[in-house]
Amino acid sequence: MKAVAVHPGKAGSIHLEDLPEPRLDDVPGGRGVLVRVLSLGLDGTDREINDAKYGAPPPDSTFLVLGHESLGIVDSVGPNVTEFDQGDHVVCMVRRPGESIYDLVGRPDFTTDDVYHEHGINLLHGFLTERYVDQPENLVNVPGGLADVGVLLEPTSVAEKGVAQAYEIQRRLRVWRPRRAAVLGAGPLGLLAALLLRLRGFEVTTFGLQRAPYLNSDLIESLGARYVSTQEVSLTEGARRFGPLDLIFEATGFSPLAFEAMQVAGRNGVVVLSSVTGGDRRVEVPADAINLGFVLGNKVAVGTVNAGREDFEAGVRDLALAQAQFPGWLGRLLTNVVGSLDDYQEAFELLEAGQDTIKVAFAIAEDSPLRPLVRTAGRG
Ligand code: BGC
Ligand code: ZN
Repeated sequence: MKAVAVHPGKAGSIHLEDLPEPRLDDVPGGRGVLVRVLSLGLDGTDREINDAKYGAPPPDSTFLVLGHESLGIVDSVGPNVTEFDQGDHVVCMVRRPGESIYDLVGRPDFTTDDVYHEHGINLLHGFLTERYVDQPENLVNVPGGLADVGVLLEPTSVAEKGVAQAYEIQRRLRVWRPRRAAVLGAGPLGLLAALLLRLRGFEVTTFGLQRAPYLNSDLIESLGARYVSTQEVSLTEGARRFGPLDLIFEATGFSPLAFEAMQVAGRNGVVVLSSVTGGDRRVEVPADAINLGFVLGNKVAVGTVNAGREDFEAGVRDLALAQAQFPGWLGRLLTNVVGSLDDYQEAFELLEAGQDTIKVAFAIAEDSPLRPLVRTAGRG
């Protein structure tokens, strides 16, 4: 069967591979779940891997199958699987448990191991293929009524974890009544973070690079949030106008903003850092002022990566809530859908983020709930 893969470390090496068919008994103990991949979303991580800035193949392979934002449908299950039935929609979690105590209690997203295993990213093949087999412990059920937006669950889970961390940390205050949040970045993760914060009743200001109006600023405003272009209003000025900021969610990929966020966060505020920045950028920061503000303001900054099962499950509930509260909004994120695995070149070109490109996704199976919006090589 077909799969889209790269040779990590070799830029632009994206190509098709032929993989052996997965089989139910690849998972021992009759616990296999054979999943047919319906849809798959791409993000900046996939681009970085194809640019040879990130990622590693499985130890026994020269290539890495890409893809970590999947939606599939259960094709068949082993005799000892009670959790799933044929026809269930599922999303596979990205990180696999390692050895640390956090891994052992089901939170590999908090691993302290030096090496982490992530499907489609690091040391494990991904889901940009036709079928895969996994065990029920790694799969999350998505109600059929959410199938058309289920491919957004993995990036939603990443935003969920960041927001959940903020709430968890703020229990230190005994009572936390946050009102205002800023989201830095209006890409897919920033948009989803703004959504989750609006669903929790925050007054949200999103700071993006581009000037409004454009699709992303429209989407922000249709959540009842405010969009500000940093070409017009800096974060520091925006925080003065629209603060005090109880929570700042950083999702731009531009690390200097982390320090500006720390400076402008309100008293008792929490800064959530989620950008994976593989570069080596250096900046000068007002160290005394940031430190003083942290000390006198009891501020917190926290880094967050990946997501645990509870974040995926919270994501399912919030996708459903979003469909009810902001009908059609999630679907508008899926701006560029290609029609088959054969269209990988086109998909990665689209990923170079043109205007009005938010999420590039593959409709892999004929019965994918995503409708291709782009002419495809695979299906005339
Ligand atoms: C993925 C996460 C992953 C992170 C770091 C992100 O693109 O969505 O699941 O943990 O990259 O590899
Ligand atoms: Zn991702």
